This record gives sequence, structure tokens and C-alpha cells, in this order.
Amino acid sequence: MKYVIILGDGMADEPIKSLEGKTPLEYAKTPVMDLLSKQGEIGIVSTIPKGMKPGSDTANLAVLGYDPKKYYSGRSPLEALSIGVPMIDSDIALRCNLVTLSEEEGISFEERTILDHSSGEIETKDSNILLNEVKAQLENERYHFYCGTSYRHCMIWKKGSVLELSQPHDHLGEKIAPYLPKNKDLLFMMKKSYDILKNHPINIERKKKGLRPGNCCWFWGAGTKPELPLFEDKFGKKGSMISAVDLLKGIAVGTGMNNIEVEGANGGLHTNYEGKARAGVKALTEDGCDFVYIHVEAPDEMGHQGSVEKKIKAIEFLDEKVVKVVKEGLDNYGEPYRILIMPDHPTPICIRTHTAEPVPYLFYDSLEKKENTWNYNEREAKASGNKVDEGQDMIIKLFSIK
Ligand SMILES: [Zn+2]
Repeated sequence: MKYVIILGDGMADEPIKSLEGKTPLEYAKTPVMDLLSKQGEIGIVSTIPKGMKPGSDTANLAVLGYDPKKYYSGRSPLEALSIGVPMIDSDIALRCNLVTLSEEEGISFEERTILDHSSGEIETKDSNILLNEVKAQLENERYHFYCGTSYRHCMIWKKGSVLELSQPHDHLGEKIAPYLPKNKDLLFMMKKSYDILKNHPINIERKKKGLRPGNCCWFWGAGTKPELPLFEDKFGKKGSMISAVDLLKGIAVGTGMNNIEVEGANGGLHTNYEGKARAGVKALTEDGCDFVYIHVEAPDEMGHQGSVEKKIKAIEFLDEKVVKVVKEGLDNYGEPYRILIMPDHPTPICIRTHTAEPVPYLFYDSLEKKENTWNYNEREAKASGNKVDEGQDMIIKLFSIK
């Protein structure tokens, strides 16, 4: 038996007026998922434990079978693992986003507006040059900067503390004053980074091209070094991770899963969907892997951007270029398989951030084809009456561990 989880990040949503009251998942043309749902099972599952923040970190840990209540120690430490940051127990890791702040003349830093948490999904190359400039000017014994992927960098705070910090993607279009760190060192570095980056040649060039400048560092997601048991020890399966984002790669590093790099996979709308799917099939059919986790970031990013059309497109790409390719690849291979398709959490367009609402899942077993009439979406999943209480139960279901 082979096992696949296809994770559409932030794919779940709310009914939208302009879509005749449908959700993007319901409105999108997804013939492959709808076929699998008819031959499989749909239902809903709560991936975010009560009292925890709805994030890709907590939710993806849960979907991979790691109870976030027990194993979650912050988001940034997981990403730090993926970019090879050496962490000791007294270190605090922070996410350091390269963000776009408004650049009006004659106003104070605090009066600026956060326009983009991703600096227009800035390319890693440009982003690293900018971060390295900040590093050259601000790094000292206590604060160490590390380059990540796209706008997602990391900062290690020696003997720091786990502070409450605002997530930049929750406040797009708002003035930043209420969301700035209370800690004076962090605030100083944020302000300073704006001065360093505002007129950097890369940003001048970006603005000329109509791209958003990466003009400020934004710290959030503080946490301590995680302690995760190995996936293979826990579930007896050899697993591989296919994701463009450091958080998921870090979870894979922390759990001893193999990270598969796919050229052109970037976490954006135009990622290499087929490449991911083919790499997953290859891992299962040629490389002796039992389980692959294919993570697609695009629906979440489009949710944060607030674009209904692009979110629908991301879901249609997921269906056509990932689910279809995986299904065909495994059908051709011939060994029985199970596929679980689900989001980690909703990222509703109307609020452009994550919620903790239960998400719809689709479970398909090539040996147990059913004859249902439902399609895969939030409404029908809820109406099915199938409900799984906790995210970490999904992998138990996938592996049929009694
Ligand atoms: Zn997510």
C-alpha cells in the first residue's frame, strides 16, 4: 500500500456572494477531486486545537500526526531547521519577513501602512541580497540573521524570550503602530531595517519595474527549539515531503522525513504543480518510499491576497496538475494506494487570514471504491455527517492504525 497526502494550504473558505454563494473550492472546476470523492469518503476535521492559533505550523503538524498541543514550540524554529540554522535550547528563533511598508514622505515610521507581507512574493535572490545588507549592519552577538526562501527569513535571538508578536499578513492595509513589537531591540531593528532598505538599489530597481520593494524586516512567530519524534519510528512508514516552503521542509527535517526538491516549486500561484506530483509518484514507485506529503501553498497565498479568481485558479491547478497526475501515476503503477486531500486550515478571502474552523477532507482508497453522489467541498463535507475530532487522527485513518 502507498499513501499520499495532498495538502492545499488554506484551501477552505466561506461562501462568497459573487460566486453564487459558493466557496472557491465549490465553485472551482475540480473533476478529479469530485470523482475521487464519489468513490471515497468526505467529511470535516478540526485541525486546530482549542486555544491555539490557526496557522500552517500547528495545522500541518497535526495533519502529519504530531499533536500540536504536545509538539508545537513556535513557527520560526521549524523553519530554522529547514535552512540549517544551528539552534541550542536557550535560543529563540523568529521569522523575519521582508515586507513592504508605505513610503509616504514626512511621516514617522509608526504611521506607515503595511502593504504586503511578502514584498510581492519577492524572488529569493533579491530577497537574500536585501537581508544580507540588514545582516551586515545589524547582526551582533545577540542577534543572528539567516537567509530563507523568498520573503521568509530567520533571526536567532540568543537568550531571548518567546514574545507575542503580530503576524504581518493579518494586518495588510493597516497602519503599523499597534502591531509593532513592545521589545525595544526588535523595534529598533525593524525601524533601522527600513532606513537600510528603503533606497537600496534592488528596491529602486523593483519600484521602477512596478514591483513591491522589500523595505522592512518584520519579526514574528517566536519559538524555542522543537523536539519531534521521527516519523518512521512513530508510524513505521518511510515518508517524503514535497513543499516549497521552509516551514514544511523544517517539519520534515525535524521528523526525519526526506525533503524532495522540485525545480520551479515556489509557493506561488505559478508553481511547478506537475513537477511536485511527478516527484511524489517517483518517490513512491521508484525510490521505496511509503508515504509522500505534497504541500501546495498557492491557495493560501491567494487567500491572503484576497483574490477570488486566483484562489479558484490555484484550486483548479491543484486538481488538474497534482491530484490527476498522482492518481494516474499510481493507477499505472498498480500497487494499491490511499490518498488524503485536505487543507490545513481555511484562509477565507473575506478576512484574508486563517481561521480555526473545521476543514473538509477527501479520503480515497483504491481498494475500496464507493458509490457516493457528493462532490468535494465545504458544504457537502459538512452535510456528509462524517467528522474527525482532531487533525492528528487523519494520518491514523490514512494508515489504518487501529
Ligand atoms: Zn496554511
